[in-house]
Amino acid sequence: MLAKLGRQSANLLFGGSCYLCRGAAHGVLCERCDADLPRLGKEYCPRCALSSPGGAVCGRCLAQPPAYDATIAALAYGFPADVLVQALKFRGELALAPLLGELIGGRVSTGDADCIVPVPLSPERLRSRGYNQALEIARGVAKATNVRLAPDACRRSRDTAAQMDLPLQERVKNVRGAFECPRLVEGATVAVLDDVMTTGATLDELAATLKRAGAARVVNWVVARTFPLHV
Ligand SMILES: [Zn+2]
Ligand SMILES: [Zn+2]
Repeated sequence: MLAKLGRQSANLLFGGSCYLCRGAAHGVLCERCDADLPRLGKEYCPRCALSSPGGAVCGRCLAQPPAYDATIAALAYGFPADVLVQALKFRGELALAPLLGELIGGRVSTGDADCIVPVPLSPERLRSRGYNQALEIARGVAKATNVRLAPDACRRSRDTAAQMDLPLQERVKNVRGAFECPRLVEGATVAVLDDVMTTGATLDELAATLKRAGAARVVNWVVARTFPLHV
């Protein structure tokens, strides 16, 4: 029912043509473009979602365990996942959010988390962009899974430079102390939702903050995983 409503609104917004190839489509994408999405296979680290033979926990996570316990990524951050994510993030294509939410929703289920916390933007960035793309995607995931959305559980305690503008090695420092969790998450399994995971520095900092606030387990649910060359 919800998927049908999503398809109908996508038809209205995109005129029944595929967002990527402009061919005939019943939803945001035609069947061929949907089938071509770079979905992640099974051979990746359950903790950080980087490639790992046999799906074992990778050496990096064993040597330096991150604060988060698991990562579910729907897609690899290659074409056309990058086109979809950037259109939502930078061009206000909010009608893409339900599609991206459904892609994550298809990989997780109701019992996997107690609540969904979208990575918060700073008030400054929220004002200039007008929306938080992670929250828009999280609405679709919450609908698909019936997991409660908790958008106010965490907030930015200070503005930070955009991670994508910084060299990889400076990203950890940039987000240190960037979050606070005013709502109690005592004993909860929290799913943190973001559009793209690159070094994981932002998600690691947010997971550490949630754990200090009492979260029992923190899992990342992300649309797309990049595969950084140097971390
Ligand atoms: Zn298409
Ligand atoms: Zn790993």
